[in-house]
Amino acid sequence: MLEKAIEILKVIHKNGYQAYIVGGFVRNYLLGIDSNDIDITTNATPKQLQSIFDNVLLPATNYGAVIINNNGIRYEITTFRKEISYKDNRKPLEIEYIDNLDQDLLRRDFTINTMCIDKDGKVIDLLKAKSDLENRIIKTVGNANDKLEEDALRILRAIRFAATLNFNLNQDLIVAINNKKHLLKNISKERKKEELDKIFSSQNARGGIELLLSFGLEKELELDRLPYCDSTDSLITVWSNLNVIDKYPFTNSEKAIIRDVNNALKEDNYEAKTLYKYGLYVNQIAASIKHLDKKVITELYNSLPIKKRQDIDISTEEIISIINKPPSLYISEIYNDLENQILY
Ligand code: ATP
Ligand code: MG
Repeated sequence: MLEKAIEILKVIHKNGYQAYIVGGFVRNYLLGIDSNDIDITTNATPKQLQSIFDNVLLPATNYGAVIINNNGIRYEITTFRKEISYKDNRKPLEIEYIDNLDQDLLRRDFTINTMCIDKDGKVIDLLKAKSDLENRIIKTVGNANDKLEEDALRILRAIRFAATLNFNLNQDLIVAINNKKHLLKNISKERKKEELDKIFSSQNARGGIELLLSFGLEKELELDRLPYCDSTDSLITVWSNLNVIDKYPFTNSEKAIIRDVNNALKEDNYEAKTLYKYGLYVNQIAASIKHLDKKVITELYNSLPIKKRQDIDISTEEIISIINKPPSLYISEIYNDLENQILY
């Protein structure tokens, strides 16, 4: 992955611009962790990048990242920038393209996210972040209170990095999170959910949840059930337990599963009727929330004589001809009765 990214840097250089790999990829590379995508920072503007590469997706928003998909790798390329004005503790309203790397690094969130790799494969550490990486410390670039005030999402990013990388928050950052956590209410649910998804789906989801609770963020995030989320088998398990489909954005199919799980939680999940009604997947999620034996749930489900109404070997027409009355509500009553008789 690194060699391919370096080729991209070289192409940008040949066209007369500077370019560096920055952020997550460099951090993960130095920690020996794989990355999904690569962030690049450059003094070339999106328009200039478009004239260099032919598969450029221009940013959806002004000043957003240019996306290049090359050899199966996704590159997010941003132009060196200075963030000028922040409003309501969110992403900057206004930015200015600049021509030097130092300033671009200063606008970033944490020191561990400011290390770069240049076109010769050399690690560049202008803000002396290496010791923080080695000591596994998350520290803001500059004053912690100011950084969180500028963009309160950084609170969740800090907790996400602490949980996923097994790092510690430095003391100033801990104090600043306590000072500024009320500002999380100004951040969109979409942005917050992206970070929460990463925390809840990490290997160390439990540690991330404990960190959120240690700051009392369940209140700021309107996640009342967070203290009870001790099962972190899967992302959908955590969100089902939290049961906040009215507060955070979910797809319709996710909403349906979360609703079903919450109904199934009220029933006995070892019972044939519950297994039949909600199916294996939903009952498994309910089982992990309730700490039931998932193996037993699978065995009981597999031994059900029918899994759905269509498995009953009689058609509506046959029922009508046996009863010999025009079709009406009795048909569904008969099916209900048949289901019960067969299941028990
Ligand atoms: P990963 O991609 O592994 O989730 P990342 O650190 O690369 O982690 P991205 O969201 O891809 O995170 O952002 C790329 C870089 O942009 C970060 O490393 C950081 O330098 C900077 N960055 C991202 N979001 C913010 C923010 N809210 N405030 C300041 N800098 C940010
Ligand atoms: Mg990244």
